[in-house]
Amino acid sequence: MKRILAELLKGKLLVSDGAWGTYLQQKGLKPGQCPEEWNITRANDILAIAQSYLEAGSDMVETNSFGGSFFKLAKYGFGDKVFEFNKAAAEISRKAAGRDRFVLGSVGPTGKLLMMDEVTEAELYDAFKEQSMALEAGGVDAIMIETMTDLEEARIAVMAAKENCSCEVFCTMTFEKIIGGGYRTMMGISPTEMAEVLIQAGADLIGTNCGNGMEDMVGMVKEIRLVNSVIPILVHANAGMPHFADGVTTFPESPDDMASRVKEIICAGANIVGGCCGTTPEHIRKIANAVRTMEK
Ligand SMILES: [Zn+2]
Repeated sequence: MKRILAELLKGKLLVSDGAWGTYLQQKGLKPGQCPEEWNITRANDILAIAQSYLEAGSDMVETNSFGGSFFKLAKYGFGDKVFEFNKAAAEISRKAAGRDRFVLGSVGPTGKLLMMDEVTEAELYDAFKEQSMALEAGGVDAIMIETMTDLEEARIAVMAAKENCSCEVFCTMTFEKIIGGGYRTMMGISPTEMAEVLIQAGADLIGTNCGNGMEDMVGMVKEIRLVNSVIPILVHANAGMPHFADGVTTFPESPDDMASRVKEIICAGANIVGGCCGTTPEHIRKIANAVRTMEK
């Protein structure tokens, strides 16, 4: 049953959650530690993160499984833990969300480059299949493939999830503004190229996450809407562009800054709005309030 799409088809606007990576660091995750191991060893901290976003008013919450593919986990010596870590991630977020709200099973890039022959298409497919099936076994409503920059990896991830799971399959990519206007991923893919290929691959929803604040996300949503007026669009914007100084990363956009652009991004065509790096439950609370005022 496609529960999220059903809500969107009714014309509802939905609110997603905020950052996980930066939040985990706040809770004490050190560089070099495996975030997904915390689904087993620090389950209460993971549950608390999920709950804080739902309490702030999000309609859905992601899972702590962004780096849960075989290739990422193998770097920590956890290549045999894919099923266990991902299923646990899904179960924790489901526990927080209950039956009334939604869970998005986060799937990030593998870090292996097809174009450099570091991995084959079949190996990528198998890795995304294994992770997606584990997330579905833990009870997610959708597989949320995100932060993709290589369109071929994104396409394989969407197909692996579609062909092996019955839940919804979402995919967002990370773009940057280019000189002269428009947006491209690090690998040179535009929002319109993404739309064409991922919809063809079977994605139920597409969009953009990370790398930008709300303002540039508006431009990306508009580009997608130029070529497709119906595909649902999700936006997970950063709290602005990160600023590095004295070993500390800060994000400039306040909850009010981000909320002030919600109307613009929804008018551009976004259906689900949430946050990525640097966003906190307070950002989501303000974004949720802004989204609610847009609803009839
Ligand atoms: Zn991010």
